[in-house]
Amino acid sequence: MLDIQKVRTDFPILKREVNGYPLVYLDNAATSQTPQVVIDAIVDYYSNYNANIHRGVHTLSQEATDAYEQARQKIQLHFNAKHAHEIIFTSGTTHGINLVANGFSSLLKKGDEIIVSALEHHSNIVPWQMLCERTGAVLKVIPMNDNGELIMDVYKDLLSNKTKLVFVNHISNALGTINPIQKIIDLAHNKGAAVLIDGAQASPHIKVNLQQLNADFYVASAHKMCGPTGVGILYGKEAWLNKLPPYQGGGEMIAEVTFEKTTYADLPHKFEAGTPNICGGIAFGVAIDYMNNIGFNNIANYENELLKYATEKLLEIEGLKIYGPDVLGAKTSVISFNIEGIHPYDIGSIIDKLGIAVRTGHHCAQPIMDYFKIPGTVRASIAFYNTKEEIDKLVVAVKRAKEMLS
Ligand SMILES: *Cc1c(COP(=O)(O)O)cnc(C)c1O
Repeated sequence: MLDIQKVRTDFPILKREVNGYPLVYLDNAATSQTPQVVIDAIVDYYSNYNANIHRGVHTLSQEATDAYEQARQKIQLHFNAKHAHEIIFTSGTTHGINLVANGFSSLLKKGDEIIVSALEHHSNIVPWQMLCERTGAVLKVIPMNDNGELIMDVYKDLLSNKTKLVFVNHISNALGTINPIQKIIDLAHNKGAAVLIDGAQASPHIKVNLQQLNADFYVASAHKMCGPTGVGILYGKEAWLNKLPPYQGGGEMIAEVTFEKTTYADLPHKFEAGTPNICGGIAFGVAIDYMNNIGFNNIANYENELLKYATEKLLEIEGLKIYGPDVLGAKTSVISFNIEGIHPYDIGSIIDKLGIAVRTGHHCAQPIMDYFKIPGTVRASIAFYNTKEEIDKLVVAVKRAKEMLS
């Protein structure tokens, strides 16, 4: 069981007030808050061993290199990747996706097909459109139904020997839908296609087992897992990472350089050109330790309880509609809603005056909003440090906004 009051004291920001009210932070799907241990790790790095890695023989450089490589190992163990060198540090999910999309440029030919899902974040759609423009490959979309769930029968029909890559998020940031990625991966592999999973929204809520999933690529961002912004990971199976060409040229990614030819460094350095976010990588490792100490089972159970409570309470408000799957178990941590006749932005602004942080808009998932023919939603997204009292405050605030606006 989680001692929530104790957990909350780990997060200094949760003590602050906004507009004279205690902060109620329900925008965790955009970024999570940062516990003191992670803040301390950042301060410790810059106070005590800030140095460039892999290059210097001096003590500070070696301390920084060791800490950075230890973080990579922690991340490997957490996600259960087979090798540490299958974990590439990136600046975040978006960077990881672009790295893979760019790498596939040299592997695709005209008429090949890429399948993406209708539930994607913009960052997941644009790189594939660009890849198709570059290569003449064709983009196919797995549609969703009224519950915001992917239609698997259509997916099966879309798959063919032309399919080279399938790209799906593990959990939708707009609706909270948990996609059946194990089935999606297995079916794609039957056709010889590779699969890239966007785990930005899943990794903060469930423990991901990469070897069991057998995904070819998986991407995540530290800042949604209690870590800092500007750092994330691309996991790739060794064989795939060896097959993909490097993304950027620069220092650290080369073995030997002459003007005639450059040979590339081994994994993971081949994909890590230039000085990385050293401090961010180290702090990411600390954030993962922090979350594992709390326990992903504890996190999932508690968040599901809060999600259920919030769903019931919000649905008591007349005219309020929640988008996405309604069955608990098929979604996690996100409540995307509207009140009939009221613009989501107006609700968001009024409840911010009461100290409540939610997201309003299309959540970088315009196609989903178009599907429901709405301009956007109000999205409350939950983390393990939220409480039932905070949900009650959200409900009171939304009721008040409704009275003011209707
Ligand atoms: C947040 C998010 C992204 C983008 O992550 P960045 O850290 O901004 O690169 C991509 N996909 C999903 C599902 C997300 O939730």
